Amino acid sequence: MGQLSPEEWPARKAIVNGLPTNLILTDRRVLVVGGGPIATRRVKQLVAAAANVILVAPQVTQDLRHLAETAAITWHDRPFEPADISNVWLAVTATGVPDVDELVSQLANDTNTFCMNSANARHSTALPMAMIHGDDEVVIAVSGGSDPGRARALRDAIDLQLQSGQLPIRRTRMSSAGTDPDIHTHKGSVSLVGAGPGDPQLLTIAAMHAVAVADVLVVDRLAPAILWESPGPDVEVIDVGKTPGKHAVPQDEINAILVSKARAGHRVARIKGGDPFVLGRGGEEALACLAAGVDVDVIPGITSAVSVPAAAGIPVTHRGITSAFVVASAHDGPAGVVHAAANAPSDATLVLLMGVGKLPAIAAGLIESGRRPDMPVAIVESGWTPDQNTTVTSLAKLRTGSVVVSPPAVVIIGDVVTLRASLGDLATASADARHA
Ligand code: SAH
Repeated sequence: MGQLSPEEWPARKAIVNGLPTNLILTDRRVLVVGGGPIATRRVKQLVAAAANVILVAPQVTQDLRHLAETAAITWHDRPFEPADISNVWLAVTATGVPDVDELVSQLANDTNTFCMNSANARHSTALPMAMIHGDDEVVIAVSGGSDPGRARALRDAIDLQLQSGQLPIRRTRMSSAGTDPDIHTHKGSVSLVGAGPGDPQLLTIAAMHAVAVADVLVVDRLAPAILWESPGPDVEVIDVGKTPGKHAVPQDEINAILVSKARAGHRVARIKGGDPFVLGRGGEEALACLAAGVDVDVIPGITSAVSVPAAAGIPVTHRGITSAFVVASAHDGPAGVVHAAANAPSDATLVLLMGVGKLPAIAAGLIESGRRPDMPVAIVESGWTPDQNTTVTSLAKLRTGSVVVSPPAVVIIGDVVTLRASLGDLATASADARHA
């Protein structure tokens, strides 16, 4: 059998102008020639595609050997023979020997079998694409023509955008009508999304992804408002925000909303300020979902307890000052805070969230229980927003009630506060950093 001359192989134009397809190879015979890293990658993809893989190679990688041993593929431990090409839907050749690869291509061509020649795109009638298996059924395929490295680089960049919620991945229908409802009916779920202290720059990629795919956003006041101010079409926004002194949706009702929306097949993003599991009642919401049989996951966020002091130049631990910090809620007044402080090392930094109205009583309680009256205190209001404001005082002064504070604020009590004099404000909030 004579070799095809170079001009008989497909022209470059044909390489880039092929027909985009997703081959369904389930149980279909696919020949792979070669046992190196490229062949290994292709075999793994073919196994994932449930193909019936016949591997021909005198030497194979550990991974391929393992696949053969576990009967996921059939391995012929020998060099390629022309008869191997018969009765296969697709041939993949990656031997590292140009003549062998070309022979496989040529025999495949003669028998109307598609062939992926890893050494030479021009000798290929099937070109690999770099794939992204995105959210549920979304598949993105990128072709770099004869340059697979370029395709992979592009694929990775698209994947990052996809992961960080920058591409419109939200499904536009609950189920695809008609044909096969079993396949396309979506199950609802709840993501407990930590959204950080208020600056969108501090959102995680996972948080942005969860918001990008959600059909329903259940939001709190302290998360960055930019997340729900201009929701996508058909996205429902439910504000259960807790403004001090104003009516807030009771926790039972929030749990019921999460469960009923998920049961209706929606993907719910429960967006919370800071971290969902730091004084955020995320645990209760997760338990409610699980009790109702609703899928739930958590996306941690940057808690205000650490990030707000940092923005004001106050590390919660510092070598030579303290290696411990305690986070407590000030909501219920002195008893809880004094108890938390009593069980911590005496040099531990105390970080208080909520309850700014209770600060004079808390300061009195801490002094009574043995904390120094001159112990430095910092109060950071509206951290990570353009309104961030820090007041430095002492426990004794705080006790007098003369320090005026508006929520939201984080209170830091301990000698680490003195570092602010040297460090100053260490962060500038971005322009869209703002609570609702
Ligand atoms: N889960 C949240 C805390 C919820 S409790 C977290 O991990 O950050 C709400 C309290 O958090 C507020 O009363 C306030 O004490 C604090 N807080 C949250 N965001 C804040 C911010 N940007 N600036 C100052 N305090 C904040």
